Amino acid sequence: MTNNTEKQVDEILALQSIFDKKFHLLDDNQYEILIDFDLSTSFKIQLNDKISYIKYLPSLTLIIHYHDEYPSDYPPSFIISCFYFSKYDLEKLCQKLDNYLFIKNEVCIYEWIELIKQEINNELILNDQFQEYINDPRALNGYSFEQAKNIFQYLINYNNECENEYFQKQYQTCLICSDMIPGIDCIRLYRCGHYYCRFCLNNY
Ligand SMILES: [Zn+2]
Ligand SMILES: [Zn+2]
Repeated sequence: MTNNTEKQVDEILALQSIFDKKFHLLDDNQYEILIDFDLSTSFKIQLNDKISYIKYLPSLTLIIHYHDEYPSDYPPSFIISCFYFSKYDLEKLCQKLDNYLFIKNEVCIYEWIELIKQEINNELILNDQFQEYINDPRALNGYSFEQAKNIFQYLINYNNECENEYFQKQYQTCLICSDMIPGIDCIRLYRCGHYYCRFCLNNY
């Protein structure tokens, strides 16, 4: 094995153990990682005057393609795919990785992921104004300004689904009889968010 191949294999092993099910090998020198942002407790999404607070965002996908001169000479090539970044913002993110100070002979993917994660933390502001972009082929699935409204609603729905799924997996205390029951057996009143066990609600 050449020195480069060895370092590539080691990097893949390390990333696999960190990202586990979020890491997918596509072929010998290509893989994708689903990156989840660490959202603050009051994470906000905004489109003009519409604001919503969410806990869950879908993953961003980073695809890495190794070549023979990584890491001895050049960084690997990459593709970033994310539907809730505008095309413009996604291209900016690609440029951010381009501007990362690559050190010869040192692998860089973990640092790249940290850089990407810094993009979103406290808020995500969607933009429905046209912004000029260059059509960078590495920036995949960014939304165009006419889609901003749909993306905003999609993110709210996605968050509701995730919250619901989480609720169903946890044990909940019925607000009437105080029994502990799996969330999936609770009946939740959507208007106020209160929940009760089936027995209590049927006898209410
Ligand atoms: Zn009950
Ligand atoms: Zn209620």
